[in-house]
Amino acid sequence: MDKHLFGPVPSRRLGISLGIDIIPFKTCTLDCLYCECGRTTDHTAERRSFFSTKDLMSEFNEFLKTGDYLDYITFSGSGEPTLNSDIGHLIKEIKEMTRTPVAVITNGTLLHLPEVQKDLLSSDLILPSLDAVSEDVFRKINKPAPGITAEKVINGLKSFSREYKGEIWLEVFISRGSNDSEEELEKIREVIEQIMPSKVQLNSLDRPPAYSEAEPAGHDLLEMIVKKWTGLPVEIITRVKSREEIPSFSKNLESNILNTIVRRPLTIEDLIILTGKNRLEILKYIDVLEKEKQIRTEIVGEKIFYRTSIG
Ligand code: SF4
Repeated sequence: MDKHLFGPVPSRRLGISLGIDIIPFKTCTLDCLYCECGRTTDHTAERRSFFSTKDLMSEFNEFLKTGDYLDYITFSGSGEPTLNSDIGHLIKEIKEMTRTPVAVITNGTLLHLPEVQKDLLSSDLILPSLDAVSEDVFRKINKPAPGITAEKVINGLKSFSREYKGEIWLEVFISRGSNDSEEELEKIREVIEQIMPSKVQLNSLDRPPAYSEAEPAGHDLLEMIVKKWTGLPVEIITRVKSREEIPSFSKNLESNILNTIVRRPLTIEDLIILTGKNRLEILKYIDVLEKEKQIRTEIVGEKIFYRTSIG
């Protein structure tokens, strides 16, 4: 039997999250330049039932017996989950068995279909993507399967957002030189204003991409976009890769964070209180220390702790 559940994993965006993967590896409506899972091997917009939902539900039942705490149950993985025509049925079944909120990470390309909208209506949170508004930019950065256009994606997002009772956190992936022109950023901003998501999350390259044309945005560009999109609920979610990327880096603050974590494991909330800095600022230092494997995350009960890698 294939394994469909992974985790619980500590997630920056979703806290303690149990992942559910319902799509074969790299089966996707897009073939994004920046995909961290490699190039799409089954490039399709055709919805199908991929496996017996009974197997997944028995795996989920086993998980529930552990009694582990979760902030979210998240449909995600290395393909587009709404390609699985059983997703609506699975969300409903899961929601009958637990009160944990259900999230769906989707590229949003099938949201223009009434049946996909219906399937996702019973979820609590969706995290769709929107990287481009112009058709040529969309084709360049997202390489859609035949029949999928930026116009359809945008119309789908707009009509779904009118019906949906849950939250929408819209992810915009920025690849330098592909979708960061003044003109494109302005067009994306206008569409976001019509969708009115609860959050807009700016992301960029963290790991090796599927295509070499994908370029990391760098924090300076992302911070410039946050300023440009003043008034929108924008946050940067891409990780800082080096100390040089932290404006006015403070060696003192880094030592302070590390020295307190060495003494005892701490949550991000503990670090906010101890340092008096905000979450975003602390996360930049955490990124560097995690990258250097000086610290790591650990789930204990209902919380995510940072602790030193040794011991
Ligand atoms: S939508 Fe997601 S899984 Fe599909 S190619 Fe793009 S990044 Fe990869």
